Amino acid sequence: MLIDVSQIPPEGLDVALPEEVLDLGIPADTCTGPASVRADLHVGRSGRGLLISGSYSGGVALVCSRCLEPFHFQAEDHFALYCEIAAQGPPEEEHELTVDELDVTYLEQGRINTDRLLRENILLSLPVQPLCREDCQGLCPRCGADLSQGACTCTEARVDPRLQALRKLL
Ligand SMILES: [Zn+2]
Ligand SMILES: [Zn+2]
Repeated sequence: MLIDVSQIPPEGLDVALPEEVLDLGIPADTCTGPASVRADLHVGRSGRGLLISGSYSGGVALVCSRCLEPFHFQAEDHFALYCEIAAQGPPEEEHELTVDELDVTYLEQGRINTDRLLRENILLSLPVQPLCREDCQGLCPRCGADLSQGACTCTEARVDPRLQALRKLL
């Protein structure tokens, strides 16, 4: 959603964002699909800028970093951030915005891009090492079996590969 800054009254604006599907733009080996997010925002004027606060909650389909199975992660948090509105008038110097500059602002052409705002906040809330559950046993490095489902056959007969080479010689 885009909120026109000029439409924000002095007392601020409450915006309830209905549930929407948001592409987080992260690789498929970490996240298997778009997030489904809803949020409540309050946008207030503060000095030369805007104070945007609110909360969101959404489901994200993450991939477990141990067993590689997809699982549902519930992302929810409160946030409050300040963004400065660029001074009116002719720009001091015309230049193309770099990607970096675009990333740090949620304002584009006088409008707040709530999708970008939510996307960045959700990305910050995601675990660095997603786990389907705390005690996920992961995959057997040898046969790839999901060890949470029980021990695989090769865990019983785990032989040091160097010993195996020696055995062949004998
Ligand atoms: Zn797992
Ligand atoms: Zn195994």
